Amino acid sequence: MNIANELDSLGFQGLVREDVSMKKYCTFKAGGNADFFAEPSNEDELRQLLYSARGLETETVILGNGSNILFSDSGFRGLVIKIGKGFSDIKIISKNEEDLVVEAGAGALLSAFGNVVANESFAGAEFCCGIPGSIGGAVFMNAGAYGREMKDIIVDVTYIDPKTLNIKTLTNEECEFGYRSSIFEKNGYVVLKITVSLKRGNLSEILNYVNELKNKRMASQPLELPSAGSTFKRPEGHYAGALIEEAGLKGFAIDHSGAQVSAKHAGFIVNVGGKASATDIYRLINYVIDKVYERCGVRLEPEVRLIGF
Ligand SMILES: Cc1cc2nc3c(=O)[nH]c(=O)nc-3n(C[C@H](O)[C@H](O)[C@H](O)COP(=O)(O)OP(=O)(O)OC[C@H]3O[C@@H](n4cnc5c(N)ncnc54)[C@H](O)[C@@H]3O)c2cc1C
Repeated sequence: MNIANELDSLGFQGLVREDVSMKKYCTFKAGGNADFFAEPSNEDELRQLLYSARGLETETVILGNGSNILFSDSGFRGLVIKIGKGFSDIKIISKNEEDLVVEAGAGALLSAFGNVVANESFAGAEFCCGIPGSIGGAVFMNAGAYGREMKDIIVDVTYIDPKTLNIKTLTNEECEFGYRSSIFEKNGYVVLKITVSLKRGNLSEILNYVNELKNKRMASQPLELPSAGSTFKRPEGHYAGALIEEAGLKGFAIDHSGAQVSAKHAGFIVNVGGKASATDIYRLINYVIDKVYERCGVRLEPEVRLIGF
């Protein structure tokens, strides 16, 4: 019995689909098929999926908005669980002249969350507006931009441990946030929701700042092309984009596959025309790592999560 049959037999008909292309779920617009794919609409379904996957020894990968992940062309021999709409509530818990406390589900878009709180006139989450991930993915990665990161606004995170199926809440300090890392990444916990606390600010200043960051992004990043944002982590004491430029690779392509180091921002690898395969992108990632090491003596590490390579 496979996981699709098992879930069907338990009354969750159609929850698990078979042989699903990951291309349309990932902003790189590349990659193969997952043997099994499910988008649970609530915690019960998620818990059942995790429970059955464990029982059947089916490997799982959690997918948020797919903006920092690349599946290999041969795909994934397991179950991809997308945390999406079923977990996307954004709820204001309390609000007064000074403070706002908000709860946001892991499947909510970070940008939607950023816009909600900005429009409520609370400051500090403006950086969220331009990051195309989900709340869950952003917590997992401790996503950040323009000097702020998730760690700076989170009060606590509620997660489910796929091993025990226990649901727990961790305070900010317990989340072990680091540069693009967290306890959720280290232990494979599945983020369910977060609580955030923000201070009231001036509405027009907040909205102006949101706009300023948006314009900065548009001016400096190849947002018109499929990518996963910055392909590499920032190496200590350097910027990945600057090193790649120094290595002479800005705008570089190995061939005509479509995989290219962006000519606008060397830290982004882009999929021009959406025609590159995951293998083409992966080959270019490794080429860049080797060349930068050869020419600058720094070994870059991918920030994008590589599955099945
Ligand atoms: C144009 C562009 C600009 C970007 N700019 C930035 C930026 O400024 N700053 C920045 O930090 N990032 C940036 N990114 C990268 C990306 O948007 C962030 O890393 C984002 O947080 C990833 O969220 P996601 O939901 O898309 O995660 P996914 O890509 O779906 O997954 C990423 C990782 O998180 C895990 N994950 C996802 N959801 C959960 C969950 N609920 N529980 C546990 N694990 C989970 C996945 O298993 C995977 O390992 C950019 C990407 C693009 C395409």
